[in-house]
Amino acid sequence: MALSDVAMVERDEDGIAAVLGILKQRFGERLQTGASVREQHAHTTTYIPTQAPDGVVFPETTEEVQEVVRACAAHRVPVIAFGTGTSLEGHVNAPGGGISLDTSRMNRILAVHAEDLDCVVEPGVTREALNTHLRDTGLFFPIDPGANASLGGMAATRASGTNAVRYGTMRDNVLALTAVMADGRAVTTARRAKKSAAGYDLTRLLVGSEGTLGIITSLTLKLYGIPQAISGGVCPFPSVEAACNAVIATIQMGIPVARIELVNQLQMRAIKQHSGLDYPESPCLFVEFHGSEASVAEQAESFGEIAAEHGGGPFLWTSVAEERAKLWKARHEAYWASLTLRPGAKGLSTDVCVPISRLAECIAETEADIAGMGLIAPIVGHVGDGNFHVLVLMDASDPREVAQAEEFVGRLNMRAISMDGTCTGEHGIGQGKMGFLEHELGEAVDVMRSIKTALDPQNILNPGKILPR
Ligand SMILES: Cc1cc2nc3c(=O)[nH]c(=O)nc-3n(C[C@H](O)[C@H](O)[C@H](O)COP(=O)(O)OP(=O)(O)OC[C@H]3O[C@@H](n4cnc5c(N)ncnc54)[C@H](O)[C@@H]3O)c2cc1C
Repeated sequence: MALSDVAMVERDEDGIAAVLGILKQRFGERLQTGASVREQHAHTTTYIPTQAPDGVVFPETTEEVQEVVRACAAHRVPVIAFGTGTSLEGHVNAPGGGISLDTSRMNRILAVHAEDLDCVVEPGVTREALNTHLRDTGLFFPIDPGANASLGGMAATRASGTNAVRYGTMRDNVLALTAVMADGRAVTTARRAKKSAAGYDLTRLLVGSEGTLGIITSLTLKLYGIPQAISGGVCPFPSVEAACNAVIATIQMGIPVARIELVNQLQMRAIKQHSGLDYPESPCLFVEFHGSEASVAEQAESFGEIAAEHGGGPFLWTSVAEERAKLWKARHEAYWASLTLRPGAKGLSTDVCVPISRLAECIAETEADIAGMGLIAPIVGHVGDGNFHVLVLMDASDPREVAQAEEFVGRLNMRAISMDGTCTGEHGIGQGKMGFLEHELGEAVDVMRSIKTALDPQNILNPGKILPR
């Protein structure tokens, strides 16, 4: 299914003009309609075409979000929540125009309950800002998509990243949230208790809903103690299969790795060029352990032994913070490093996730497919969870290259689904993955449609996302 088939939303010129008038009067300069601001608030991260909203509004409170949503509801105009715009599947595009609701001014940390290991934040707080604020408390928030994303956007995409193998994803770390629903009501989904069996789990319904069911205006998040000791390093392997098999053995043996990231040979070349890391140009695992001095040393030794059994090594590890920071900075910049492999090219970024026992097979088949099609497409993965990403570098102005990349992505997603996996482990559906949802979940998608219709009968909240028509 082509993107154009699934992402159509009709424009209502009169409704949009009416809402722009109302918002201009109410918000003044906090409503922006200039072309460059509107384009910055549409999809900009990958080859998916930019579809700009008609205006961008910057509310500062839940009540102001309610006012925006009520104005949009009265005129049936789309309203698209916007965090930092780093999502990768066209999530923030406005296929039928409408209003982008930018949460960047809702950036207050409302409370830190150190004794309960939780905090309450507004949605525009970024993960780096939260961790900077927490630094002196001895606590941290572990979820780290490579980008410095907003916590509202991270909840809305059910984001994860390198630490998820140890700390879980946003699904596991949002205790409660407040959201403005399509009719303008603000609801709070839970209290701060660590557990609750009180009614339907609206927190988890809204986490991952990509702004299609409600606009999050505050979040209660779990926090963790900064580990007493952290060790980590890089281990080269003769092949991707060998590296994956070492990961499988590590997870199955119950070694509590905090991060275990695969970088394939081409990705390692890009990282070495971009960040100057001095490691062999071969598939590598970037690994990190959290715990006491003794336990991180023990974990590192055990991992080194497993790696050697699979032909990997030497596993060089360190507890020195600056050296680790350099490694993880290089890993987090993998996306930008990849773009240097083909200057001027656009990236088609895709992620899939499979049960860990199928990981080696899935990546090996994918690498063979890349080679067979002659694509330039490095692979990185949060492989402790069975999750990996491929970035296909292409000339987005060449329809043949775009079609070839989409054909590859189609096969990759169907391969993951056929292995009892998913078409997205963490990036979400947005526009880019809509064509795969029914293949993966069948009639469950009808139930999702019923939920959407019940909660947003006018389809004003981020229309044209997640659910194929
Ligand atoms: C270099 C790079 C590396 C990345 N690595 C990872 C990774 O490792 N793991 C990972 O999970 N992701 C990764 N991503 C993807 C991206 O960072 C995540 O999807 C992130 O969670 C998006 O947050 P954001 O603030 O940018 O949201 P946006 O892009 O602004 O919005 C994303 C979606 O959330 C909705 N939304 C935003 N705010 C709200 C709100 N307050 N209420 C309701 N809906 C809202 C939007 O409408 C949209 O549908 C990466 C992206 C880049 C560019």
